Amino acid sequence: MICPKCHNENRYDALTCDFCMAKLPMTKERIEEIKQKRKLEKKAKFSKSMTKLAGLLLGLFVIIGIIVVAYLVRK
Ligand SMILES: [Zn+2]
Repeated sequence: MICPKCHNENRYDALTCDFCMAKLPMTKERIEEIKQKRKLEKKAKFSKSMTKLAGLLLGLFVIIGIIVVAYLVRK
């Protein structure tokens, strides 16, 4: 959200400008935009955490595989 007074770039859901503290206009269109962007953010966060989880599980499987192989080789 660009401030109409000083043209400072603020967060899309900011209520006031970070730079000049002016109130940012809250139109219906902006509210809709904020809602949509928040939804997208949530989705992005979810997929990020899922990727992390998948990586963690993969690492765990690799470690278990190494342990099992080491155990079998010793026998
Ligand atoms: Zn400003």
